[in-house]
Amino acid sequence: MNVLVINSGSSSIKYQLLDMRTETVLCSGAVERIGEETGVLTHKAAPGTEREEKVTLSQPIADHEAGMHLVIDLIVHPERGVVKSLDEIEAIGHRIVQGGDIFNASCVVDDRVVDELTKLIPLGPVHNPGHLAGIRVARHLFPKVPQVTVFDTVFHQTMPPRAYMYALPYELYEELKVRRYGFHGTSHSYVSKEAARFLGKAPEETNLITVHLGNGSSMCAVQGGKSVDTSMGLTPLEGLIMGTRCGDADLAIYPLLGAEKGLSIAEINELTNKQSGFKGICGKNDMRDIHEAVAQGDARARLALDMFGYRNRKYIGSYLAVLGRVDAIVFTAGIGENDPVARELSCRGLEHLGIKLDPERNLAPERGARDISAPQSPVRVLVVPTNEELEIARQTAEVLAPGAKG
Ligand code: AMP
Repeated sequence: MNVLVINSGSSSIKYQLLDMRTETVLCSGAVERIGEETGVLTHKAAPGTEREEKVTLSQPIADHEAGMHLVIDLIVHPERGVVKSLDEIEAIGHRIVQGGDIFNASCVVDDRVVDELTKLIPLGPVHNPGHLAGIRVARHLFPKVPQVTVFDTVFHQTMPPRAYMYALPYELYEELKVRRYGFHGTSHSYVSKEAARFLGKAPEETNLITVHLGNGSSMCAVQGGKSVDTSMGLTPLEGLIMGTRCGDADLAIYPLLGAEKGLSIAEINELTNKQSGFKGICGKNDMRDIHEAVAQGDARARLALDMFGYRNRKYIGSYLAVLGRVDAIVFTAGIGENDPVARELSCRGLEHLGIKLDPERNLAPERGARDISAPQSPVRVLVVPTNEELEIARQTAEVLAPGAKG
């Protein structure tokens, strides 16, 4: 089965077409700056192989439909296309950030799903409108192709109330569904299964702390293959220190900023989501730039890195307490997979809790799933590359498999 994975945002569409018989990527790309003066499409056929072919287009792209048309033309292009006709696209999987507590599994898209996603916009105002635009266009352009929504929140729907409730007046939960949802669920789900496989154990018997460190970062306590706690909350703002998000911070900062700086709620939201985290502390949000600045003696960059490591260690410590027995700490995503310094800082001083890194293994520039712990470490420390698109395509195929519950 060929599955087209779509991650549609307010002004972008990222996509990947996968052949699920071999789990290979036929093509991938992104349409960006939709609706702006000049849009950009970057497309790669057979990415990562010797036959890789890259196409970049720069032109006005009026809306999501215009963007999808450009993508389709490249997918079935007579010379560089990857399939002969659109009939070879047998399913579409949509990445959805906020599924609230309405969705506790991936599901086939129908009018009811679209209605529910529309109702969830107040809980996912940044992402869900863009997802809905992608679904609308895909249903219009591929009316006969079954489509599935795969949610970032679903993996965390197994959290118990003691983990997902905020200690706010209970009515806010009842009226507005104010609670912790957690995000990056597709990634935590994928790497926890891959880590269990790497350890040679069944997911049901495996306790893990999965550590997704990228532009956005989150941690998850996985007990027997299920999420029992995670660091992100009502939105992806809570928890770890991220590229531009502050993570955990006292809510009382809001009224203070309102009173002293005259900032509106929208401005404070922008400040905490887009101007904080690494960027707020040292002016840089890309981890590679932070390392460069540290090497040049930049004290603020050093502080940002120290804060990041410290927050990660605190969360690892608290999830050790949540889980009791832990088989492995699993690092993933851009920073988690590529940055030995960030991994070392996140595990530093936790030896007495059974977490011992092997400095050489940690530094080795390998790519695949690997063990970077010292041989005598009671808790393994793994690096497992994430693959959210593959997980979305797998779940899409699973939901559509004959006999599966849609
Ligand atoms: P992601 O959101 O998973 O794409 O991760 C993006 C983050 O990963 C950015 O902060 C990048 O600086 C960081 N990153 C990517 N490659 C490396 C690398 N080789 N070393 C350190 N950080 C990296």
